[in-house]
Amino acid sequence: MPAFTLVTFGCQMNQHDSDRIGEVLRGIGYEEVAEPVHADLIVLNTCSIREKAEQKLRSEVGRLGLLKQRKPGLVIGVAGCMAQQEGERLARRMPQIDFMLGPDNILELPRILAEVELGAPPPIRTVFDLNAPTFLSALAEPGRTGATAFVTVMKGCDERCTYCVVPNTRGPERYRAASDIIDEIRRLVVAGVREVTLLGQTVNSYRDPAGSLALAPGAGETHFEHTRRAAALQDESEFPALLRDICERVPDLARLRYTSPHPRHLTWSLILAHRDLSALARHVHMPVQSGSDRVLKRMLRRYSIAEYEERATALRSAVPGLTLSTDVIVGFPGETRADFEATLGLAERVRFSGFFGFTYSERPNTPALKLPDDVPELEKRARLEEIFALTDRHRREHLQSLVGQNERVLGERRGKNGDFMGRSEQNEIVHFAFEGDAIAQMLPVTITEAYDNSLRGVVQAGFTGLPRASMIGKAPSRTVRRALPVVSGA
Ligand code: SF4
Repeated sequence: MPAFTLVTFGCQMNQHDSDRIGEVLRGIGYEEVAEPVHADLIVLNTCSIREKAEQKLRSEVGRLGLLKQRKPGLVIGVAGCMAQQEGERLARRMPQIDFMLGPDNILELPRILAEVELGAPPPIRTVFDLNAPTFLSALAEPGRTGATAFVTVMKGCDERCTYCVVPNTRGPERYRAASDIIDEIRRLVVAGVREVTLLGQTVNSYRDPAGSLALAPGAGETHFEHTRRAAALQDESEFPALLRDICERVPDLARLRYTSPHPRHLTWSLILAHRDLSALARHVHMPVQSGSDRVLKRMLRRYSIAEYEERATALRSAVPGLTLSTDVIVGFPGETRADFEATLGLAERVRFSGFFGFTYSERPNTPALKLPDDVPELEKRARLEEIFALTDRHRREHLQSLVGQNERVLGERRGKNGDFMGRSEQNEIVHFAFEGDAIAQMLPVTITEAYDNSLRGVVQAGFTGLPRASMIGKAPSRTVRRALPVVSGA
C-alpha cells in the first residue's frame, strides 16, 4: 500500500483542506504515515500570509529534496496558498516539486498523481471554482471522528485589506448552501462530534446562495452609536440567521464556534444571536490589526476603532464573561510611535484573552507594496515585544481570575502523562485528570490553577460521564436560552 505524509502550515482553513486531502488519498488506497522517510508521497499544504511561511516552505522543500536523492520514486507536492500564488514560479525554481495543487483543486489529486506517474512535467492545477464552487465535507464515520470538527461555510474574500494576499490566493467570496452546511453538521454530530467551528475568511459575511434562511432578529438594525442605519441596511450578511438555523435544526450540537469574523460584519443581529443561542461559545476571535484609525484606513479595514470597541462592548453586555482574542500587525508602512501607542491603548481597554501579533512584511501583489516599508525591522520587533509584554500580562491576569470558577469543558484528547486536555466555553485550554474516557464528554470542571497559557482543574465530584459509544448520535440536548436583557448598545 503506498504511503503519504501531509505537512500543514498556516490557519484552520489549511488544516481543514489537509484533512480533505488525506481523505482523498485514503480513498485511492494510500495510508498515512507520520515520518516523511517512510512516505511515497509528501504533500506540503502551504500558507503565504506571512513571509516566514514562505521561507519555511523553501527550507522544507530543500530538506525533502535530500530525501528524494536517496529515494528517487518519492513524489513531492505543494498544495494551498503558495501553490495558488506562486505555482509556475516555484515549480521552475524548485525542481524537487512534482505537482502544485490549489485549494479549489483537491478533488483533482488522483488524476494529478496519475499524470506524475506517467512522467508528465509537473502538473499545476490552481484554477478557482468560480462558476460552480465546491465545498468538501468531512467523512463523518461514527467512532472515528474527534470531539471537534471544522465546517466550511464560505471561501475567498471580497475585502481588499492592503497587506493581504488572501484575495489573490483564495479568490472572491463564494458561499455554501445553508442546507449543505446543516447536513454536514448533522452527520458529524451523529458520528460523535460535540463542537463545530464554522470556517470562512470573513465568515460573518456569509449569505445563503439558495436563499433559504429566514430574516434573523435584528437584521438591518443598529443600536450602535458609530454605525449608521444606512450602513447596517447595506450589510447583506445572513450569518446570524445561519447560526440560528444550525442551533434549531441540530439541537444535539453541544457547542458552536466560528472564525474569523470581520468586525464590519459583526452586526447587531449577530450580537442578538450571541445573546440568544446558548450553544454559541463565549468567545469571539475578532481581528483588529491596529488600534489607530489612521493605520486602519491605510490598511483599508473599513471600520474605525470606535466601531470596533462598541461591538466588543455590546458582545460582552450580551454574554457576560465572553472573551475576545485578536490579531495585530505592528510596523505597517507609516505606523508612527503614536499609532502604535493607540494600539497599546486599545489592548489596555479591551483586554484580550488571546493575542496574535505579527510584524508587517511585504507580500506579493498586494496594494501595500506601493507604500514604503519605512518602519525599521528592529523597531518592528521592539514594538512586537512591547505589545506581547502587555497582552501576556492581560492573559495571565485573565487566567488567574478563573481559578475557583466552574467551567464546562469539552474533553478533546489525552496527553502523554495520561491527563486529558479540553477547552472551556471561553476557549481556554484546561488540563484535568479523569477516570475513564473524557473525550467528547462535556465535563463540569472547577479550575484550580492557572499557568501562563492554560488552566488546570478537577472534574466535579459525582460526574462519571457516559461511555463514548452511548453518546454517538444522541448527545444530550441543550437548547436553554440565556435569559438576559436586550443589549442596550455601546
Ligand atoms: S478580510 Fe482582509 S485580512 Fe481578512 S482575508 Fe480578507 S483581505 Fe485578508
